[in-house]
Order: sequence, then structure tokens, then C-alpha cells
Amino acid sequence: ATNFVIEGLKATIDNKEILKGVNLSMKGGEIHAIMGPNGTGKSTLASALMGHPKYEVTEGAVTLDGEDVLEMEVDERARAGLFLAMQYPSEISGVTNSDFLRSAINARREEGQEISLIKFIRQMEGSMKELDMNPEFAHRYLNEGFSGGEKKRNEILQMLMLDPKIVILDEIDSGLDIDALKIVAAGVNKMRSEDRGFLIITHYQRLLNYITPDYVHVMMQGRIVKSGGPELAARLEAEGYDWVKEELGITD
Ligand code: ADP
Ligand code: MG
Ligand code: MG
Repeated sequence: ATNFVIEGLKATIDNKEILKGVNLSMKGGEIHAIMGPNGTGKSTLASALMGHPKYEVTEGAVTLDGEDVLEMEVDERARAGLFLAMQYPSEISGVTNSDFLRSAINARREEGQEISLIKFIRQMEGSMKELDMNPEFAHRYLNEGFSGGEKKRNEILQMLMLDPKIVILDEIDSGLDIDALKIVAAGVNKMRSEDRGFLIITHYQRLLNYITPDYVHVMMQGRIVKSGGPELAARLEAEGYDWVKEELGITD
């Protein structure tokens, strides 16, 4: 089964240390949620794991099924099975959604094993139907002019089609109405399997009403400072983060 391990991860942006030693271990079949106040490094963690050039990893180790992730280029990480759906997906003019998806799928396959056009279209149409997406989105430029909800749905479409081992969702719930939230949750729940782990980063507990995490972690000041079960998310929703700070003697 899939095994993803983050050990003592430190990362800087413009020489400022943002991640100060993150430890997190997850297995296929598990859903982990990371919650925390704004500005504590949650998105930095997601970006550093994906190899975003803006973030410099200065210490620590990350392995996926024993393979050294930090040694991999960005595209190798995707090929190894890491997938990140972002808070603010980028728009790419001139590349249609379907072109993008097909090349992303093929980039993860061996040469000569590319997906046939017919099979690809059939899969894409099926997945879009499940997500209640208008078929015309296949032919629109990637995220261009998409509403917030449409972008999020599109991220879930990519997730469905790329079949990743580790899915990282970074505040995919921000700005979503309840219907879109339910579609995102249904996509995640449908994709739950022993071979796949989910890391759901969220500021609010809302999404966790629809996706029940196995573990909830609190991130503060660049570290995971507390871990628990779903009840921890409920308490954070009800009482905010101050009690965690008091309990741990964190001042800011
Ligand atoms: P979170 O996702 O928990 O809200 P972030 O990881 O986005 O937190 O940000 C953590 C810290 O890093 C913040 O102080 C933020 O201002 C800083 N930061 C994040 N991204 C950048 C960037 N691209 N350039 C400069 N500072 C950044
Ligand atoms: Mg933020
Ligand atoms: Mg963030």
C-alpha cells in the first residue's frame, strides 16, 4: 500500500523560514486533514511537496513508497503519483482543458503506452458527467473565465483522471457553495481506495462534514503542533484556535 512520509521538513521563501520542521506520515486509504490559522504555512507545505521553485527546502526528507521525493523534478513528482489541487488554479490561455488533461495523463505513462484518443474521450466524458460538468468545458481554455466553483470542479476532474497515489487539496473548499462542495466531496469519497491517501488542507471544518478524515492535524507557525481524530476539527470549528495556543504555550 501507498506510504507517504514527511520528516523534519523545513522550507524557506526568499530566505525566510516558513516550514520549521513538519512531520507527517500517511498511508493509502487514509484521509488526513490539516487545519490552521491563515499564514501558518499550509500552502507552503503543499507547494514545497510539489517542488514549486519559489520554495526552497532546507532540511528534512519526503518519501513516497520509499522513493526520495525531494530529489525529483516537478514532473517526476506528478508521475510518481503526487497530485495537488490548488486554492487558486492557474489559467492557461491557448490550451484547452482536454488537451491539458490528455498530455498530463500521457506524461505519466511510458513512451508508446499513450492513451488512445477514443479511450481518453470516453473517460473524460464519463468523469465530467459524474461531476455534473457541462461537456463544453472540455474545449474551453484551461480555467480561463471559469467561475470559482467551475475551477474547483475542474481540479476534481483532473484528480479523477490522473489516478494519483497522494492527493493534496489546498483549500479547495474556499468560496464553494454547498452544491459544489458536495460534488468535491463526492469525487474524493469515490476515489477513496487502499492505494490512495488524501491530505486535505482547509481553514474551515465545513468540507469535513462531507469527507470524514481519519486524522486531523493542526498546523501553527510552520509545524504540526497537534493531531487527533475528527472530533478535533469539530472543536476547532466551535472554539477557534486560541485554546490550542494556550494548551501548547504558543505566543505570537
Ligand atoms: P497558509 O496557507 O497557512 O495560509 P502560506 O503557506 O500561504 O500560509 O503562507 C505562510 C507564510 O509565508 C506567510 O507569512 C506568507 O506571507 C508567506 N508567503 C507565502 N507565499 C509567499 C510568497 N510566494 N512570497 C513571499 N511570502 C510568501
Ligand atoms: Mg492562506
Ligand atoms: Mg493557504
